[in-house]
Amino acid sequence: MKFNLNNLIRDNIKILQPYSSARDEFSGDAKIYLDANENAWGSPLTDAYNRYPDTEHSALKLAMGAIKKINKENIFIGNGSDEIIDLLQRAFCEPKIDKIIILPPTYGMYKVCANINNVEVKEVLLNKDFSLNTTAILAAIDEQTKMIFICSPNNPSGNLVDENQIELLLNSFNGIIVLDEAYIDFARTPGFVNKLTQFPNLVIIQTLSKAWGLASLRIGIAFASASIIQLLTKIKPPYNISKANQQLALQALQKQDQIKSQVTQTIKERNLLMDAMQLIEYIETTYPSEANFILIKIKTPSKLYNYLQSQGIIIRDRSQQPLCEGCVRITVGTTAENNILIQALNNFQ
Ligand SMILES: *Cc1c(COP(=O)(O)O)cnc(C)c1O
Repeated sequence: MKFNLNNLIRDNIKILQPYSSARDEFSGDAKIYLDANENAWGSPLTDAYNRYPDTEHSALKLAMGAIKKINKENIFIGNGSDEIIDLLQRAFCEPKIDKIIILPPTYGMYKVCANINNVEVKEVLLNKDFSLNTTAILAAIDEQTKMIFICSPNNPSGNLVDENQIELLLNSFNGIIVLDEAYIDFARTPGFVNKLTQFPNLVIIQTLSKAWGLASLRIGIAFASASIIQLLTKIKPPYNISKANQQLALQALQKQDQIKSQVTQTIKERNLLMDAMQLIEYIETTYPSEANFILIKIKTPSKLYNYLQSQGIIIRDRSQQPLCEGCVRITVGTTAENNILIQALNNFQ
């Protein structure tokens, strides 16, 4: 058995003739554009948005590539990672036939996307310490398994997944491994981006929604082999990233230093919060975190949720998730916000 990308792609996608936009058919410079039914007079705004945006996101990919030290050909930009998760499933998973494997407790969108696309989901629980149960994962793989979603650092548990275990799966599974690194900027390790060339079946997902502070712009990124990137590009909506969002994301990428110092600050605050939480008696477990949130286990999660809400603080109740009995997830805020949080946590009985 060997990884063969062509065998994994759905037949209808293989033969798909993609939409050819006006921008695809002519991308040079001209004096007069009368090819896309745009409003030639301009926009009712200070900036001009009357022309369709770059379908290839070239400037954004170049800037991203410079930061991640990766070629443009290995980068895909999606309207949030959520769009990328959906496109991946639509490229590879035949509805009612193919399957994906997810590893709960984890990010909810993998399963929701599969449900929308009518793709079967096999769930292999993490171990009690939120590490991977590789034996069970390998046993769950069958002929129809096209994709395994691994989230590292994992949401909601906050831990990194062991790199040797990820590599074991990459080496033994002939489908696609989707490694969701939405929180990698907060972790101690650089993640898998610099290992991309070793693994033709690896797709890494990152986002500008967390560390980069751009959740409302909806910019998700996939790093993968050029063939997988071409496949995603073939099936994406042609204008999936607006011009305004491409410009704003590009401006943000010039300010990497500012983001780096915010990340440092967040990690410092996370550690202070963990220290404070460990002194609070009713908190049974404060789980170690490599992300910008902390999972804690208590006896009365919904009572705590309601109490904090009454104090104007909203957290996430995760107690209904598998292996998360009694757990709530708390995002690391600013220093001032965290101080108010700690005070409120101390006042809760
Ligand atoms: C927040 C988050 C994302 C980000 O999704 P976007 O659509 O890019 O905002 C992706 N994966 C995980 C695990 C997340 O927690």
